[in-house]
Amino acid sequence: MPAPHFHAAAGADASLGVLSGVGPVLREKLAARGLSTLQDLWLHLPRGYEDRTTLTAIRDLRPGEPAQVEGRVEAVERGFRYRPLLRVAIADGSRASLVLRFFHFRAQQVAQFAVGARVRAFGTPRPGQVGLEIVHPSYRVLGDGEQVLSEALDPVYPVIEGVGPVSLRKLIVQALSKLPDDATLELLPREHLRKLQLPSLREAILLLHAPPPDADVMALQNGVHPAQRRLALEELLAHQLGLRRQRLALQAEGTRALRGDEALVERLLATLPFTLTAAQQRVYAQVREDLRKPRPMLRLVQGDVGSGKTVVAAMAALLAVADGRQAALMAPTELLAEQHCHGLRGWLEPLGVRVCWLAGKVTGKARAKALAEVAAGTAHVVVGTHALMQEGVEFQDLALAIVDEQHRFGVHQRLALRDKGRGSVPHQLVMTATPIPRTLAMSAYADLDVSAIDELPPGRTPVTTVALSVDRRDELIERIRFACAEGRQAYWVCTLIDESDEVEAQAAQTTFETLQAAVKEHRIGLVHGRMKPADKQATMLAFKAGELDLLVATTVIEVGVDVPNASLMVIENAERLGLAQLHQLRGRVGRGSAASSCVLLYQGPLSALARQRLDTLRQTNDGFAIAEKDLQLRGPGELLGTRQTGLAGFRIADLVRDADLLPQVHALADRLLASAPDTADRIVERWVGGAARYASA
Ligand code: ADP
Ligand code: MG
Repeated sequence: MPAPHFHAAAGADASLGVLSGVGPVLREKLAARGLSTLQDLWLHLPRGYEDRTTLTAIRDLRPGEPAQVEGRVEAVERGFRYRPLLRVAIADGSRASLVLRFFHFRAQQVAQFAVGARVRAFGTPRPGQVGLEIVHPSYRVLGDGEQVLSEALDPVYPVIEGVGPVSLRKLIVQALSKLPDDATLELLPREHLRKLQLPSLREAILLLHAPPPDADVMALQNGVHPAQRRLALEELLAHQLGLRRQRLALQAEGTRALRGDEALVERLLATLPFTLTAAQQRVYAQVREDLRKPRPMLRLVQGDVGSGKTVVAAMAALLAVADGRQAALMAPTELLAEQHCHGLRGWLEPLGVRVCWLAGKVTGKARAKALAEVAAGTAHVVVGTHALMQEGVEFQDLALAIVDEQHRFGVHQRLALRDKGRGSVPHQLVMTATPIPRTLAMSAYADLDVSAIDELPPGRTPVTTVALSVDRRDELIERIRFACAEGRQAYWVCTLIDESDEVEAQAAQTTFETLQAAVKEHRIGLVHGRMKPADKQATMLAFKAGELDLLVATTVIEVGVDVPNASLMVIENAERLGLAQLHQLRGRVGRGSAASSCVLLYQGPLSALARQRLDTLRQTNDGFAIAEKDLQLRGPGELLGTRQTGLAGFRIADLVRDADLLPQVHALADRLLASAPDTADRIVERWVGGAARYASA
């Protein structure tokens, strides 16, 4: 991530060359770790602390607990057993002794340890051959009468290749001596900090580099010390402000409002075999209101798998088409895009709306023809993968861009859409089936308005989920056989994590063959990422039409595939998948009225984490509850996937640990944007490096 940025007047931008002893070689080593200015060093915080402010009697040492001791050398043994070895026994007034053990050392070091010499050592004692020992302690041989103990806890910095810890500490001390005073450095309102009982930025930085002996070391180690929370608050605030500013900038560009003519929408609703849920109606109404405004809509629709997001997207698209303008729908995978295309054609073409298919794999004449239609405006709704955003695709008049399954879609890609509208920024509707907890949503999607379709269409029966050891595979195959005999359709999902498409395809092929041999009386299909799109599509359609009973598939079916009659799913290697992905996959069943089940096939023994994941899935079908659990188990970076740019790159903040700060962050952001926009800019610049990061996306 770009370096945080302190106000230039503070000299924060100054290159490290201003510090004495920093030549080109050292500068390069530091730069390799992203340290190139004073402010980088100010924020190069210790990863831990060592308490050298007190001495522990050797007798009181406890294995595993770092401590500082002082004693006189009693015996020295220098040997060679497989490798060089130096053992120094020291004893103190507590009449106990301790062994200091070294595997690499210089002759000079050996000479220092004369019997009777006074040694002060710091390290973590472990049980040794005789009593406790410390391997490679940090130590000092003391001169006569030398007594001084550290006055502050000693910081332990993350290691920097080629820069010794002592030199690094000296550099940081030097850099800190150039830390500006509070008046120059502080950007947050004083009384706000006082209310939260948090220190100023200057105080926080100084404390973290050299905590006083009475500092709460546990709090520091856990990252919850007020000084750490102070920095986390400002960092979170900076990101929040950055996203909001981005949103303001985009909206300031303005766009053409849609009239909101609902004639086509009403005709669609009249042909649907269902009525909208209250949640769908509510979210559609919000979208319609957004579209009627002369500034670009930036709305995220969260809705669990199967909540019916697609129809809401189709209705929004019709509002654009009714104004004689275009809408685009983008999906992360070809298969999903194809499916959307198919679905939308079924719904929209009877209304005289032309749906055009444009994916990366559409090439040659077909591509030229599609592009011409998109440019001429004869294609009203354009469906495709991200290829839609590649250069060379010119819309006649794009009014609305819909992005499905946001968790695979980066903020950068979304911003690229901005340039697709001819002369006016398109409205943007983002749909995600990976709900994220509310506070996190407010931080992650501060640049979007958020709506939720928080209700499933009626008549769905929750999916029953069981976890089954892979030892019982044969039994399971028998059960599938019976289920198919009863007219049920089943998915068998082969998953391999961190393997190529090809290996995954191979695994699916093997499973397909095994199942074909075992279940001769049923019709079995196979889809994987290595197949030609047309073949994939044909197999999917056959499954959907009920011409196949069992579909062996890779995770290509993860998002969006919709076959309501399928009521059974087996997921192989379930222990290796994340919660969100398992929930997505499971969402492929339970879409009709039949009672559905999902079997999570695992290879034991299960890790504690894997067990928790499988238990969570057995216990709930609620995407929001699963997202909360996922957040606890994996942390926000993973959860947010491609949005990591903004969030996983925090240097101090941690969205789970610091979640309770978020309401403060949001309130502060409101306040600063309203009353002190310049300060807001400076905060963003300090931590995020200016607008460049978002704008150049
Ligand atoms: P998702 O939100 O996961 O994208 P879809 O839009 O694919 O869900 O909808 C899932 C299924 O539910 C589709 O077959 C869709 O036609 C159907 N559906 C959508 N809304 C309703 C509704 N209000 N009542 C009944 N079925 C609905
Ligand atoms: Mg969908």
